[in-house]
This record gives sequence, C-alpha cells and structure tokens, in this order.
Amino acid sequence: MKDYDVIVIGAGINGLTVASYLQKAGLSVGVFEARGQCGAFCDTVELGQSGFLHNTHASWIVPAMSPAMADLELERYGLDLRGCDVLFAKPFRDQTNTLLALDSTWTQSSVARHSEHDAAVVAKIGAYQAEHGGEALEINRQMVFGAPTVDLADRVARFNDGLMRALDAPLSGDDIGRMTGFEILETLFESEHVKTLPGALGEFTGQWPLNRRVGPTVIGLAGFNPMAVHTAKGGSHALTHSLVKCFVAHGGEIWTTCPVEKILLEKGRAVGIRLSEDALIPGEEIRANTVVSNLTLVPTFLRLLGEEAIGAEWARRIKYFNYDDPQLLGVYWALEGDPVFASAKYDPGIQRCWVGYFGGDTLDSIRTIQAEAATGVVPSQTMGGWFNFTRADPTQAPPGCHTASAWMSVPPRPRRWRSKRLKGWNAWRQGLGEALADEITDLYEEFAPGFKDLIIERHINTPMDQENSNPSAIRAPRRSAGI
Ligand SMILES: Cc1cc2nc3c(=O)[nH]c(=O)nc-3n(C[C@H](O)[C@H](O)[C@H](O)COP(=O)(O)OP(=O)(O)OC[C@H]3O[C@@H](n4cnc5c(N)ncnc54)[C@H](O)[C@@H]3O)c2cc1C
Repeated sequence: MKDYDVIVIGAGINGLTVASYLQKAGLSVGVFEARGQCGAFCDTVELGQSGFLHNTHASWIVPAMSPAMADLELERYGLDLRGCDVLFAKPFRDQTNTLLALDSTWTQSSVARHSEHDAAVVAKIGAYQAEHGGEALEINRQMVFGAPTVDLADRVARFNDGLMRALDAPLSGDDIGRMTGFEILETLFESEHVKTLPGALGEFTGQWPLNRRVGPTVIGLAGFNPMAVHTAKGGSHALTHSLVKCFVAHGGEIWTTCPVEKILLEKGRAVGIRLSEDALIPGEEIRANTVVSNLTLVPTFLRLLGEEAIGAEWARRIKYFNYDDPQLLGVYWALEGDPVFASAKYDPGIQRCWVGYFGGDTLDSIRTIQAEAATGVVPSQTMGGWFNFTRADPTQAPPGCHTASAWMSVPPRPRRWRSKRLKGWNAWRQGLGEALADEITDLYEEFAPGFKDLIIERHINTPMDQENSNPSAIRAPRRSAGI
C-alpha cells in the first residue's frame, strides 16, 4: 500500500473533519476505520422495522456553530440541517410548559406567563448578549471548538462583568466563574418553571449545573437565546456522510474494516501504523509523516502506543483517566402517530418542538438526580431529555409515522437504584436497562397521555451497548471482573 502524508486513525466526525481540512490543504491523507462504516457515535440506524431511522448517539447536532460547515462546504456535500421554530420545551406536571422559541418575543411571553420578574431578567440578558453579539459568538466558538486558555477565561470574566452590571447584580465575572449553575439560576430567577429550563439544558449540553465553574455557560443558557442545534435530513449520520463526501471529493482515501493495532515509532516519532490481523489487509504496515488518532485517550496511548512507548508514569496516569462520569441511557420508539403533550392545551407551541426535557419540575429535583448520577446511584426520580425527530424531519419515519427517543443520565457503573443494590457494570447485563426504559415510557405517557397506544416498537441503548458498538469507547485496561 502507498504511503501518506497523514494517516488518521478512526473515521468518526472528528477524524473526518481533520482529514478533510488536511486533504483540502493539499496533503495526501488516508483514514483507517475499524468498523465497516464511518462515524460510530454519529450514526443513524434502523433498529427494527424498516423506514424508522434512529439516532443512537449524537442527536442534537451543532455543525451550524462550527467553522467546518462553511470551510468544508458541508451543505454542498448533502448536509441539510433541520429544526423547528420552537427550539426546546419543558412540560410540567401542572400541565403548563415553558418554551424556548426561535422568535425571542415568543420565549419572553412564555417566561412571563410564569413570572414577570424572570421575563425581565431574560430580556436584560438577551439585550446585553445582542448588543455584544460579536463577542458572545467568538467566546462561544472558542469555548466549544477551542482549547481552554487563561486568555479565554479572562475574556469570559470581562464579558460577565458587563452582564452583571446590566442586571444590577452585585456579582463580578470572576464570581460567576466560580459558581455552580444551580447557584446562578437560584440567584437570577424566582419561578421553578423558568429556572429548570436552563437547568435541564445544562444537563443536556454536558455543562452540568451541579459542577463548579460551569457558571459562565449556564448564565449563557439563562438568556434563553435561540440555539443553532439541529437534526439533519435523514438523521445525524447525514453529518458523517457529508464529511465522507467532502474528504473523498478532495482526493482522500478511507479504508473501512481496517482496525489499527499499533502506531509505529522510530526514534520516538510516529511514522506509520500497523493494521490488525482482523483487517481487510491483515497486518499491513503503512507509513506517513504524521499520524493523528481520533480515538479516546486509553485506546490511543495504552493500546496503539503502549507503555513501552509512553513510559510507566504516563501509562499510570492514563489508566486512571475517568471514564465513570454519567452517561446516557437511550430509549427509542417507532410510533404510528405524533404524541400530544397534555400541556399543549396551555401552549400548543410545544407540539411544534422536537426536543425538550420532562420530569424535574423543580431545580432541587434536577440537583438530586445529578448528584445521584455523579456518585454512582441511578436517579431515584425519572427525568430526562425527549426528542421527536420527525417533527423536524419527517423523512426519519415512513409517511404518517414518527420516531421518538428519550435520554436519562445514569452512572455507567451503578451501585444502587432506590433501595436496590446493583453490581456496577453488570447491572446492564441484568436487566437494569429494561426496568429504566419501562419507567421512561411511563414518564412519556404521563406527559403525553395516549403515548403508549402509539408505540409500534421500542429499543434500548445502555452505556454497555454504546461501549460495545464503538471500539474507541472501550476502556482499557479491560475490567476482568466486569464491574
Ligand atoms: C449516547 C450519546 C449521545 C450523544 N449525543 C450527542 C448529541 O446529541 N449532540 C452532540 O453534539 N454530541 C453527542 N454525543 C457526542 C458525540 O456523539 C461525539 O462527540 C462524537 O460523535 C464523537 O466523534 P469522534 O469522531 O470524536 O469519535 P467516534 O465517533 O467515537 O469515532 C471514533 C472512530 O474510531 C473508530 N475506531 C476505534 N478504534 C479503532 C482502531 N483501533 N482503528 C481504527 N478505527 C478505530 C471507531 O469505530 C469510530 O468510528 C453523544 C454521545 C453519546 C455516546
């Protein structure tokens, strides 16, 4: 096989993005992917009946915020982002709801129905962010797509100094930087119907309000601003497909069913790869000037390089990399109709929304489940995110039918659920996923009566299923006892 300027190990969306930029810049790039297809965690699959497409991992995708969208002309390569005019909705057990809409006056009035005070706060944050829109966008891009730097932290603090002055709040940007998201939401808002929407969004976006130092992100969410988050026509894998097409159109080469076994080193420098004996070209060695890994820390450093290359101290550090933060349990339904939320009687706008969060009517309840999930306990109260993809993109189901899914944050190695003791990772082998999926289905029924009558089929994706579907997600050293 020929040599390349650059080899990229793994054809996930990140590997394909770097490969496309480099190929487009004139280098010759070869991408080597273990599975038979690209984009493990940005996949869309028929889990059962044909025509029902399920986004088993990345669901709420953000290419519209990324410079790659324009740089790599992803629309030209088939990426057609889809959304709704209501961007996020939180129904409540009192059969009201709070909506975050594309049109900020709609959002304002939704918030004002719960609290005039909170609507005024949202308006002030929105006005400040609009006035400093360029700076907000640049900070957001750096936070999402760049490395964290001291300069960025200072820039965020200065931005929030101004915001606090605009709100007449006795806080500085540095204070915000030290606070938890919950502290900020308690400080700003009075209504639980308002506080819980950014609280839920923080969990959704991985910026858990429970944690210290997420204050700057959560205060951004507290502005209830429109977000450039989408599904894609045909499902999330349309993003993977567009990157593949872009890369290939510029002359790049992708080798699927080619797991890489080793990164080859000469004088301490990566000079190529060796494929595994299971690969399409077993044991083949391919050389390159640069090798890029799209894999997570442990597979890259402990398996592909190995302790002999990185030294005992680094190997020990990497063995202790934390893979035990909460993960998502996903439940997927094929439906014969569009579920109707009970709170549609209060504001029918919720029916025009494809993503939201249910359960967690109070900030305290969201705090409780986050603290539980972060400490190895399966949340005692069932709550989480919901998606009705087909409202934004009807092509993800046969005509007249729909798909839906819901997420719940869970510890990957749970030790307890309510009064029941669990055996860590083995709990997923012992039916915990089914039991939780039953609760999530009941939750959907509670918020959208008649939901269960629409179900054609149901599928579950536990943290163990996710790990089994993606060799980059598999931890090392392997857990001998499975717990
Ligand atoms: C349940 C879940 C839900 C998520 N939801 C969202 C969401 O809604 N929005 C969002 O933006 N993000 C979401 N994410 C995160 C998002 O999916 C990932 O950030 C993104 O897909 C990661 O892409 P990647 O290219 O870094 O890695 P991956 O997709 O993991 O790609 C790595 C690739 O390397 C391959 N590989 C592994 N080992 C080898 C080897 N030895 N040799 C060759 N190839 C190898 C794998 O097969 C894989 O294709 C979610 C993640 C999960 C797990």
